[in-house]
Amino acid sequence: MAAKEAAKKKGRARSQSQLYQKDGDGVKRLNKTCPKCGPGMFLAKHNNRETCGSCGYTEFHGKK
Ligand SMILES: [Zn+2]
Repeated sequence: MAAKEAAKKKGRARSQSQLYQKDGDGVKRLNKTCPKCGPGMFLAKHNNRETCGSCGYTEFHGKK
């Protein structure tokens, strides 16, 4: 599937600053972290799932 290949290439993490949002006292994490890679690795958001660009871990969003 072409879309899958594109997603793979796009898997590089952006700068950390884009993954956090200032939220009052501290920061709010915008993305979940990868349970396999640990807290330093964020999952990339997609339409109905979030994937880790490092290990390929994918978390599917539940049914609507
Ligand atoms: Zn991972």
